[in-house]
Parts: sequence; structure tokens; C-alpha cells
Amino acid sequence: MLIMGSTSFSPSLSLSPSLSPHSSKFPNPNPNLFLRSHSSFTPLTLRSNQTRYRFKKLPSSNAPNFLVAASGKAEPLKVIISGAPASGKGTQCELITQKYGLVHIAAGDLLRAEVAAASENGKLAKEYMEKGELVPNEIVVMMVKERLLQPDSQQRGWLLDGYPRSSSQAAALEDYGIRPDLFILLDVSEDILVERVVGRRLDPLTGKIYHLKYSPPENDEIASRLTQRFDDTEEKVKLRLRTHHQNVDAVLSVYKDITVKVSKGS
Ligand code: ADP
Repeated sequence: MLIMGSTSFSPSLSLSPSLSPHSSKFPNPNPNLFLRSHSSFTPLTLRSNQTRYRFKKLPSSNAPNFLVAASGKAEPLKVIISGAPASGKGTQCELITQKYGLVHIAAGDLLRAEVAAASENGKLAKEYMEKGELVPNEIVVMMVKERLLQPDSQQRGWLLDGYPRSSSQAAALEDYGIRPDLFILLDVSEDILVERVVGRRLDPLTGKIYHLKYSPPENDEIASRLTQRFDDTEEKVKLRLRTHHQNVDAVLSVYKDITVKVSKGS
């Protein structure tokens, strides 16, 4: 999912060495990483005693406001990003993965691949996706777990997008001993979300995402081939938003010690 436009989060993450004094503050899921607050970049830092990296706020009112520092010798970074449909996960995922080399794993993309392949799982998943409901755990959990355990994810670290969406999905990860270092929550007001979704279009040739109003196609040729996701209608996004709101608190409670919340809109 990728949305551009005046209401999207601006490119916002940068990397630089951290020279700040260290003071561990929060419980730490990764023994090689430390979470801490930072006076000039509140509220969060992940860092180690080896090589240190940080995400820092750029001069933009919409930019996420946190630091991440990781050891060169530590395990690869593991990040979960969560947010309502069209909250900007795709844009942020692209920026983060480009910059830090993490493997982007999007539950929705894995499911759409099953749907496109017309597999048994895909056929079943589509019924739920069309209703804006969560696809049953029997399909989603193994699918995501297997992708997380692939060699590229293990070696480079991962950015998991759209999973977990329920407390049982979060519990399944915990049962497998899979715990992220950081949980990013994009929090965007509902009126902005609906407008973004309804205008969102995909160029099937390049994979680029457009918005009819905020990021229109460059020319008529591209415009003529744009497609819309089958669940990107106002009616369906409202169902997806309802599902999201029903589940987000339960997921947040599992990761509250490592959550960074980024807010946008009223
Ligand atoms: P969005 O976040 O815009 O709803 P996604 O591509 O992440 O888009 O998800 C599309 C649909 O795929 C969801 O509405 C849901 O039906 C299904 N889906 C995605 N992730 C999960 C998940 N973790 N568990 C169950 N169903 C999921």
C-alpha cells in the first residue's frame, strides 16, 4: 500500500551516528538493543553499545519523532508497522526499507498473491477481504511466519506491515519467539483515510501508486492503465476501518513498551 499526496506523511527518517549519553529506560526485547528516551528527539531510542544508528526527526511538522540505534553486531532490526488502511504504511515502508535494507513483508500483499494465484487459500481469503474482514488465522499466521523465517528476512532484518491485526495473531508471533524491536503506529483521522483510499490507483506496469487528486499520473498513457484495488471503495474502506479499530488496542497492548505513535489529522 502506498499513498502519496498532501496528506501523506512526509519522507521523514534519516540515519546518523548517535553520540548521546546512554540511559536504558524501557524493557528491551532484543538483548543487543536499548530503548530509551532522548531529550532532543523525544520519545524513543533503540541503541546499543556498539555501532549506533538513529532515526531522527527531520524539519517537518509531520515527521515521526524518534530515534533508533542498533548494534552492528546485534541481530538484524525487526520492526512492525501498523495503521489503518491508507494511513501511509506503504510510503513509510518504502522509505525505511530503502534506507535500512530491511525486508518488507506485507500481509496484504502475501494474501493478494494467493488470490492472484487462485490457490485454495487465496479463494477463501478473497471472501474475507471483500467484506473488509480479517482472513482466518489458519491462513495468515503460517503464511507470515514462513516469510519471516526466510533467509533474507533473517539476515537483513524485517519490516512487517499489516500483521498482527489481532491479539491472537500477536500471541502466535510470541509463541514462535518472534518479537520486534520497535512497533510503529501511524494514527490518522478517518476523513483523511477515506479520501486517500477512494482516490488511490495502481499502475500495474510499474507498481507505482497514484492518487487521482494528490499524486495524479504523469500522462494520459499511464492514466489509462491505472487500476483500483477491489476493496478500495468508500463502502469497503469503512468496513476495513471498523475492523482496524476493533483490533488495534489489543495489538497495541502487546507492544506498548516498544511503541512509537505518529499522529496526523484532527
Ligand atoms: P489495508 O491495510 O488497506 O486494509 P492490506 O493490504 O493490509 O490493506 O489488507 C487488505 C486485506 O487483507 C484486509 O482488509 C484483510 O481482509 C486482509 N488482511 C491483511 N492483513 C491481514 C492479517 N494480518 N490478518 C487477517 N487478514 C488480513
